[in-house]
Parts: sequence; structure tokens; C-alpha cells
Amino acid sequence: MKRRDVLKLALGLPFLLSAGSADVLAAALAEKHPKPKLKPGLPPLIVLDPGHGGHDPGAIGLRGGYEKHITLDIAQNIANRLAAGGRHRVLLTRSRDVFLALSARAKLAHDKQADLFISIHADSAPNGEARGISAYTLSETASDKFAAAIATRENASDYLTGVDVAAADKEVAAILFDLTRRHSLNAALAKKARIVSLIGSNLTLLENPKRSANFAVLKVPDVPSILIETGFLSNTHDEALLTNPTARKRIAVTLADAIAGAITV
Ligand SMILES: [Zn+2]
Repeated sequence: MKRRDVLKLALGLPFLLSAGSADVLAAALAEKHPKPKLKPGLPPLIVLDPGHGGHDPGAIGLRGGYEKHITLDIAQNIANRLAAGGRHRVLLTRSRDVFLALSARAKLAHDKQADLFISIHADSAPNGEARGISAYTLSETASDKFAAAIATRENASDYLTGVDVAAADKEVAAILFDLTRRHSLNAALAKKARIVSLIGSNLTLLENPKRSANFAVLKVPDVPSILIETGFLSNTHDEALLTNPTARKRIAVTLADAIAGAITV
């Protein structure tokens, strides 16, 4: 189901009816606002986010590999691979060695109405044995200040795809917002599983590679968002791969193909 269809689904949910909000919602949708905007003919848009940058180097490896350079190179190679296929639109949150706030990265994915947001990282761990790739989605149990703050704003409609509910009451806006956020998370969970399964045959995976955590950059309410750890700079094997252009490109190509395979999941 398309993410935007969640708004249509909202009309049929019994709890909305019982809450007495359906009439307000229906009026807002049917009378004042036409169907949610779709993007006919446009290939899906993937926003790639190279982690860190500028004064924030990210993790620094045992042999001096900088996460910020590794993430940028991998993201650019993923972008090239995806764009060359002609079936996706690709946008990078940064294409140079500059600092970008986490919220700005998430906001770009929202503003551009991305179909998928992928943040690329390569971190370190106290345990030098830890190695391999893993993929994260936002934890459902995470505190959710970003989402809550947006939901309570008067202009919550800005964050709801294609439907302006400013005329409806805040309760409806909050319910719609929550539905959209949950739907994005479910989509992200499915795509994460697909990505991990597709890269597993080519690259070394971390133990329990499908993970979730409270990453601020993943708090894009209306875009399925995944953070990929491409390996550990605290592990000699992983750092050797991540600082080697040929090995790094192989990682990027595998990730690009996995992302392409997950976009329709
Ligand atoms: Zn990182």
C-alpha cells in the first residue's frame, strides 16, 4: 500500500468514527480538498544521507580512517549506481565535507517528499571484535519529541502529505499525523528486512543485523527511514575494507542494489 493511502484508510477506521472525528475529517477531505497528491510518472525518490561532515568527523578508525569521508564516498557511489539505472531519483543531503544538523537531514527528506531515506554511517564499538553491516529503524519505544512537537503545531498540515487539515481540529491532525508516522515506520521495517536479506549474501553482516534505536536523523514522520552502519572502524578487518576504495565501492554497489530491491517492498 502506498504511504499516501494511509490518509484514505484513516476514513474507514472504526476508532475514528467512534471518536467522533470522522465527520470533521471527511468534511476537510471531501469538501475543501481533493484527493491527496500522487506523483504519477515520477520514479521513486531516494534521499541518501552521508553521516557526519565538517567539524564532526564521526568515528575515527584504528588506522585513522574518518567516518565522514567514508560515508560520503559510499553515498556518492550508491547514488551513481542508482541514478545510472534510470529507475530512481536520488538526492544527497550533502555532497561535500560540510556539517549538517540531524534535523536538517531529516527535514530535507520530508521537504522533498522522499519515498525512502537512507542515512549512511560507519561507527565504532568498544569491542574490537564487532564487525559487519547492520541496518536500523527508529525504535517504537523511543521518546519522540520531534514527532510530538510537530504534531501539536498549528501547521501540522505541513507535515501531512497532500492533505491540508488546518481547517480540522487539532485532534484529527494529531491522529492523522500518528497514522502517517506509524505507516512510515512499518514501511521502513519491511524495507530494512529486505535490504539486510539482499546484502547478506555478498557482505559480512553484524550479528542480529536488523536493529532499532532512537536515532534523531530517522525521525522523519512521513518518509520510511533507515540508518545503515556499513561496518566498524574499531575493527581492523572492517576498517581495511572501508578505507580501501575498491572494497568500499563493492559495499556501495551491493547497498545500491539492495536499496533498489527494497524500494517497492
Ligand atoms: Zn556515524
